[in-house]
Amino acid sequence: KYFTYQHLAMSRGCPGKCTFCGSPKFWKTSNVRSHSPEWFADEIESLVKSGITHFYISDDTFTMDKQRVIEFCTLIIKRKLDITWNAISRVDVIDKDILFAMRKAGCIQISFGVESGSEKIRKTLGKPIKREKIIAAFSLTASYGILPRAYFIYGSPGETMKTIQESCDLLIAIKPLSAVFYLLVIFPGTHLYQSVVNKHLVTDNIWYQKIEDLPWFEVDEHLDFNKVKAFGDQLRSEFYTNLDTFAQDLDLVDIKDLYPFHADFLYRLAMTFSHGEYGGDTRIKNQNETARQLYDKALSYGPDARAFLGLAMLHQKQRQFDKAILILKKGLEHWSENKDLNICMGVSLMNTGRFKTALSFFEKFRKNPETTQYINICHQNLSRTLP
Ligand code: SF4
Repeated sequence: KYFTYQHLAMSRGCPGKCTFCGSPKFWKTSNVRSHSPEWFADEIESLVKSGITHFYISDDTFTMDKQRVIEFCTLIIKRKLDITWNAISRVDVIDKDILFAMRKAGCIQISFGVESGSEKIRKTLGKPIKREKIIAAFSLTASYGILPRAYFIYGSPGETMKTIQESCDLLIAIKPLSAVFYLLVIFPGTHLYQSVVNKHLVTDNIWYQKIEDLPWFEVDEHLDFNKVKAFGDQLRSEFYTNLDTFAQDLDLVDIKDLYPFHADFLYRLAMTFSHGEYGGDTRIKNQNETARQLYDKALSYGPDARAFLGLAMLHQKQRQFDKAILILKKGLEHWSENKDLNICMGVSLMNTGRFKTALSFFEKFRKNPETTQYINICHQNLSRTLP
């Protein structure tokens, strides 16, 4: 709704051996084939010229080849392409250098497959990564101002309330700022699917039936719908009830070069809590307070116009117009010609009955259709108060 975006990939394939994943079968190989950084940067540049500003980079594991990714990021930075993008990766193939380069090149989110908090289940799912490594990767990613997003899977072989509790514990330890919880479904071509075919629990004929997918619990005598539903509910509840503290606990690296990026990251996250997806979600606690802290923190890294605006809008939302006016005054000291700050100031002043002063802010943008109604309201109110 707010920007134009495009899905792209620099590489195809993944050398991982996750037992639920169809990637090797889909690409018919576990080898990774990749475009060159130049080719990929050219592709992005041509899309930028046609007005695209955000990219979903959907490589299975974008950071698999560190050098290639850093070269790509360097090209994006050199060409001054003003873009944002998301990527998908694994916790065992990121480090400080790559995160620094990615952040400076516009990366705002990395999704990692955590899968489970149970070491045993991670092993069964073919991702035997140590707990400490997962925690470190999430903390490092967030510290570079990139939103770490977690994919969890539940309803896996061996899943019980105890293993779900382990997933909840890991969730609390990694503090993801976004999370997706998938019920395990098995697809042809995956190791797990083949294992149930080998046990004669299903045959390929199942796909002639009117089914959308095959959840693991349907072939596992230890699981059933009610159990896995409870697993999913437990995980989601743990995430949403703790999300405010995850955001409030953010600890960013102190690298001067990244200050404007930190301000941008914190402003975006604050906006999600105050006016975006998290703002309207009743499962999340303390949205406004979390947003306020994040906006304040964003402004501690520099005078970001959007952070001033977001904070003022938050006060407006709470009908604290005088507080909004104070924030906007500070913002306008840095960005006197910023349309949104001026209009927001006008609206706050209108709400405190100061129509004449409000008018002076709207008049600067009188050609803008957005201000017409406000200008009319001001004139109507002023004419009423004239003797
Ligand atoms: S789940 Fe991710 S890491 Fe595992 S094989 Fe598939 S693409 Fe690779």
